[in-house]
Amino acid sequence: MNGVLSGLSLSEIEKITDEMNASKFRAKQIHNWIYSKSVSSIDEMTDLAKDFREKLKEKYTVTEAKIKIKQVSSDGTIKYLIEYPDGECVETVLMRFDNRANLTACVSSQVGCAVNCSFCATGKRGFIRNLTSKEIIEQVLTIQRDTGLKVTNVVFMGQGEPLLNLDNVLKALEIFNTDFQIGARRITISTSGIIPKINELAKFELQSTLAISLHAPNHKLRAELMSIENNYSIEELKNALLNYIDKTGRRITVEYIMIKDFNDTFECAKELATYLKDIKCNVNLIPYNSVDQTKYKKSSGDNIMKFKYILEHSGKKVTVRLERGADIDAACGQLKGRK
Ligand code: SAH
Ligand code: SF4
Repeated sequence: MNGVLSGLSLSEIEKITDEMNASKFRAKQIHNWIYSKSVSSIDEMTDLAKDFREKLKEKYTVTEAKIKIKQVSSDGTIKYLIEYPDGECVETVLMRFDNRANLTACVSSQVGCAVNCSFCATGKRGFIRNLTSKEIIEQVLTIQRDTGLKVTNVVFMGQGEPLLNLDNVLKALEIFNTDFQIGARRITISTSGIIPKINELAKFELQSTLAISLHAPNHKLRAELMSIENNYSIEELKNALLNYIDKTGRRITVEYIMIKDFNDTFECAKELATYLKDIKCNVNLIPYNSVDQTKYKKSSGDNIMKFKYILEHSGKKVTVRLERGADIDAACGQLKGRK
């Protein structure tokens, strides 16, 4: 069976070169080809001797992930449907923002999602399986190989609930940090609010940003959008968030999708401001992206601005998420991950 080099740490690659009786420097070279030069085959590692490459190829390949479909949006956003050897696929999105040099990869953590929020396309599919840490890493490498560019930021906002695959997400995070040299502060993990896992994550005292999909200011409205509210209620969530902020010292991000005439009223804004009063956070308002089979509509721009103003008045920093890639269904919550 061939092993895959992508997703291995330097010390894991050193084990391979040790077994081949090669120097540790060879491991460094291989590591560099994979993470800095983003090659897709061993043959491209031209500073390794040909016979060494042949020997390496007997047991290893660089990658097993394939680009099934690639779509480029008019705003430059690229969406990839990536296939793994078992035939399962996930979507990964590369976003660029004109005024910044950042290249942000929006990665998936699971095939499908068990949380099944009523507004989200991913949830409609149910849960298929967790991704391994290597499969998560392969998404960023696929982007780098395809574009020849270095990803600078990673957000776990693709398909799946990252905290329900925490071990693999943490392993991937470590590799992003040490092997890709993407600073922890440039990585965001978004969760629907799995309280026990937020508590577990708090113990790691990560410098990465935790984003919480709140989406409503009270139990009743939130339960309509997210059935998870019935297991982990918004009031208990507050305690978990306060504990998280206390442990990590980090400001969190609160995500709030703006749905017309549902959660975008003046009263909702006031109630949200009260809920967030003691929580050290920035707020990210997300204009709702329409998804088939749901009745929800996007709030008007005017309403979003009023809502923003009320929250700002309460002392919060508020941003409105730029809509990226809507013309290729690459926006938040539109990822289905099907061929
Ligand atoms: N499962 C995690 C991370 C993936 S979803 C989570 O739910 O947080 C990333 C973000 O997109 C979440 O805030 C999610 O609520 C939001 N989202 C899902 N469907 C959406 C839609 N149709 N329009 C806008 N945002 C959506
Ligand atoms: Fe899963 Fe997040 Fe979609 Fe909810 S919004 S179904 S948690 S991916």
